[in-house]
Amino acid sequence: MRAVTLRAPGRIEVDENWPEPLLRPSEVLVDVRGVGLCGSDASVVAGHRAVPELPWVLGHEAYGVISRVGSAVADRHEGQTVVIEPNYPCFACDACSAGATSGCPNRRIVGISEPGMLAERVAVPAGFAWPVPSGWAAEDIVCVEPLSVAFNAVGLAGIRPGGRCLVLGAGSQGQFVCLAARQAGADVHVIDPHPGRLALALDLGARPDDGGDHPVIIETSGAVSAFEQAVDRASHGGIIVVVGQSRTPATVSTFRIVQRRLTIRGCLIYDHPQGFARTIAAMTGSGLRPGRVLRARYGLEDASRAFAESAGNPGKTWISLEEKPA
Ligand SMILES: [Zn+2]
Ligand SMILES: [Zn+2]
Repeated sequence: MRAVTLRAPGRIEVDENWPEPLLRPSEVLVDVRGVGLCGSDASVVAGHRAVPELPWVLGHEAYGVISRVGSAVADRHEGQTVVIEPNYPCFACDACSAGATSGCPNRRIVGISEPGMLAERVAVPAGFAWPVPSGWAAEDIVCVEPLSVAFNAVGLAGIRPGGRCLVLGAGSQGQFVCLAARQAGADVHVIDPHPGRLALALDLGARPDDGGDHPVIIETSGAVSAFEQAVDRASHGGIIVVVGQSRTPATVSTFRIVQRRLTIRGCLIYDHPQGFARTIAAMTGSGLRPGRVLRARYGLEDASRAFAESAGNPGKTWISLEEKPA
């Protein structure tokens, strides 16, 4: 089968003869239909995030159709359209026992510690292949994973209807945070230096920065200066939720944090199973249509170009394994 593999940092190839996945009894085999590209894939490609071996199959935001069901799986069937939750916790550690699976130290991460999903077929633990309602557009289904991160951020921020909220960064994660915060009823303002990204966020219902303070700030860019700006712009008793990450230390004033009584919370992915369950429920019948964030579609054969161009594309880049409609 075909698979998109990283051969060396920065070098991506479409392998025509990649081995078929092995199907364990507790798994389903999924014919992949579409995969979104995101920042963590880009850091694997750049060689900033180590993977167990090369060549390595890339990608983790996948959806597809179940083509075979493992012998021990009773609650999934062939032909179901599923979106894949690409983080498999151990279910045995303290964090998992407490329901905080995002904190599992043994978590297996698709595309990082487990082979990725940019392949024609993948084997997935059945409980991590989430059936979606029939009739959903491919563009919407492929956004369930990053939108789950956004809903987690909005939940941690304790956003209230009508409340002001500032989103820093309008990369694709910032766009999903804007959507999720709008869905929660917030008055969302957004900052991004890139005019195309800013325009897309405004299209999705956010407003341009008005220079005022905010009780809720969600930092999605990973830029150190943006985190510093968040500490400057949070109002008394405000909460800053940090989604974007950097290893570079930031310079912030503890005087500011104490005097303003700020809360700073890190947001790492989502917990299983409530993260995906909440996103799929929120998308059902709501007109949320997160696929509006997707702006650049490529075929599997153009994967290398898709990765190369993704940073410059406003909105999210994705790879479709289906024929482009005429
Ligand atoms: Zn992602
Ligand atoms: Zn665990």
